Amino acid sequence: MTRSMICIGCPMGCELTVEVEGSRAVSVTGNTCGIGKKYAETEVSAPTRMVTTTVLSDGGVPVPVKTKTAVPKDRVFDVVRAVKARRVALPVGMGDVVLDDAAATGVPVIATMAVTG
Ligand code: SF4
Repeated sequence: MTRSMICIGCPMGCELTVEVEGSRAVSVTGNTCGIGKKYAETEVSAPTRMVTTTVLSDGGVPVPVKTKTAVPKDRVFDVVRAVKARRVALPVGMGDVVLDDAAATGVPVIATMAVTG
């Protein structure tokens, strides 16, 4: 089976063609660099995504956050729901952990900027 996908590794957005056997990429073409090959291989076998969103402070001020590392793609909405259920006390510093283990993925969620109120 052949799959087509756009690499999300950088703004060039290379168009990748991936030959797939089962859940394994056996060849990748169209990539300009190794990141594209790795992206295609992971996308076929175990896709992941970084999650960026906001968490509210106790006073309702939004704090920008992201997962510290990528999470399985099929868990993204669980992670967003876990973050949206959370409230944090201000001030929050950039890099502070606002959720230790987002939706039992083992991945913490961290603030991406300092918010004092
Ligand atoms: S293959 Fe490399 S150059 Fe092309 S979009 Fe991906 S990261 Fe960018």
